[in-house]
Amino acid sequence: MSELVLKKGREHSLLRRHPWVFSGAVADLRGGEPAPGETIDVVAHSGEWLARAAFSPASNILARVWTFDPAEPVAAAFFRRRIAEAAALRGLPIGEFGGTPPSVVCRLVHGESDGLPGVVADLYADTIVFQLSTAGADRWRAEIVDALRAAVPWARSIYERSDSPARAREGLSPVCGLCHGEEPPDVLEASWSGLRFGVPVRSGHKTGVYLDQAENLARVGAFAAGAEVLDAFCYTGGFTMAALRGGAAHVTSLDSSADALDGLRANLERNALDASRVEIICDDAFKRLRRFRDEGRSFDLIVLDPPKFAESRGAVERACRAYKDINLLAFKLLRPAGTLATFSCSGAVEPELFQKVVADAALDAGRFARIVGRFSQAPDHPVSLAFPEGGYLKGLLCRV
Ligand code: SAH
Repeated sequence: MSELVLKKGREHSLLRRHPWVFSGAVADLRGGEPAPGETIDVVAHSGEWLARAAFSPASNILARVWTFDPAEPVAAAFFRRRIAEAAALRGLPIGEFGGTPPSVVCRLVHGESDGLPGVVADLYADTIVFQLSTAGADRWRAEIVDALRAAVPWARSIYERSDSPARAREGLSPVCGLCHGEEPPDVLEASWSGLRFGVPVRSGHKTGVYLDQAENLARVGAFAAGAEVLDAFCYTGGFTMAALRGGAAHVTSLDSSADALDGLRANLERNALDASRVEIICDDAFKRLRRFRDEGRSFDLIVLDPPKFAESRGAVERACRAYKDINLLAFKLLRPAGTLATFSCSGAVEPELFQKVVADAALDAGRFARIVGRFSQAPDHPVSLAFPEGGYLKGLLCRV
């Protein structure tokens, strides 16, 4: 096995079980150049064995750790064990995250935080949609699918959606398609948070939908009674539906994706919600929020759930300008005693920084606002204490 030797003093993060090895920390590669995704040993400058990891030559994260246990080989049984552990954490096969099989909907595997860098899998009742985003994960596709089958024996379909932009940074091309069982429908139906959702398995974002917001829907909906609501970056309308369920008088749902908005229309119908109380707008939110401001429009409750503005550390400054921009506009559009639920799913933008940006936005808008609640990702998206980057979704509930 090839050996990645770290520079002197660069072993600390690995000793703290952080699973990434950045190229800048590496002094030497011994035993020949491994193939992308191949398993290698990582050793300290002193020669001390640190971890067994997957090699990602195209990425500046040169290796991602599979195991810190020298006695644990990386092979089929390893993936079975890790995925069985992930399933058990979510209470499977009897689901503490909602219902008994086959109705459980949850994130089943959450990458590094489940000890499986580059592997994400969502379970929608009897269908698993998974995504492999690193060379290491890609190399073990067959074993991962086998382990998913073992953990969810009632799965009728296991479908791959490995088409995230992260793959390009690993030198991998997109891979999508059926890996086990029968072809799922283009849009399957599943329920969570008391709502029925269409899941566009082949064409939706990520693995189809955003399960990370599952617990936040009702919390936001609780502020909607009698309210005029703006759901900006609404995708297929999770917050729109939660607001209607919460008794909203009217919801304006805004997204730049026409497909997402078609999904929202279908979701309203699925849940027998009153579509006449919803105005659906397909537009760029930055542009449309400005227009609302110029038209003097106002709202009692505004939800801002934009896409990941910062794909990496280097993009944080630009991302913050974008967060500032939309939050500033939202504060201007809020009526007195109004509520803003504002989110960031950029892992690189830390919670303190996000809060500062929102504070600056309130200041510039001339609004006095206080935080009355904080949001994070649903508990089936756990965050390893050794890997704080796994906690990417944060949000603030602010009253003006
Ligand atoms: N709140 C949603 C998830 C939002 S994901 C839920 O809980 O399901 C972010 C959304 O922002 C995507 O639907 C994407 O289409 C949309 N989007 C991205 N850029 C946009 C822009 N500039 N203007 C409006 N919508 C945008």
